[in-house]
Amino acid sequence: MYSNIHTSIGTIILISISSVTESTLGFTGSIFLGASFSAFSHYIVDYLLESNYKRRKDLDIIFHVVFLTIGFFTGYFWWFFGGMILGNLFDIVDKKGGLYAIDIKKYPITYYFHRKSGKGIKLTSKQTRNITYINFSIVLLYVILETIF
Ligand SMILES: [Zn+2]
Repeated sequence: MYSNIHTSIGTIILISISSVTESTLGFTGSIFLGASFSAFSHYIVDYLLESNYKRRKDLDIIFHVVFLTIGFFTGYFWWFFGGMILGNLFDIVDKKGGLYAIDIKKYPITYYFHRKSGKGIKLTSKQTRNITYINFSIVLLYVILETIF
């Protein structure tokens, strides 16, 4: 799946698991637990097999700019930033932080955290784009609610 979905899910898991384990268990390692689940969420979300669509990269960039801006103004910047990095960590490692796109021979794609089989639910371009719109809407709704209440 594309990075905007990994970012949202990674961030939700990071914040919720860290805060729930901290408040219920008083567990000092809760942030590591949250971070581990956040990074692992990538593996599960990757069962959604995306299809490319028009202006896909633009939408991913716009999403992350909006996402981090919201994080900044709501005081959750480091949580949002952490969720973005952790949710995408497996791709950052296996795709060499995107360097593969520049020189695939020097920075080959690895499969430490990805299955080569590519099994999962194959989404059409339209479905992939719609999931991104829904993701965007949820983030914006969150901000509206956060601002009002
Ligand atoms: Zn991946």
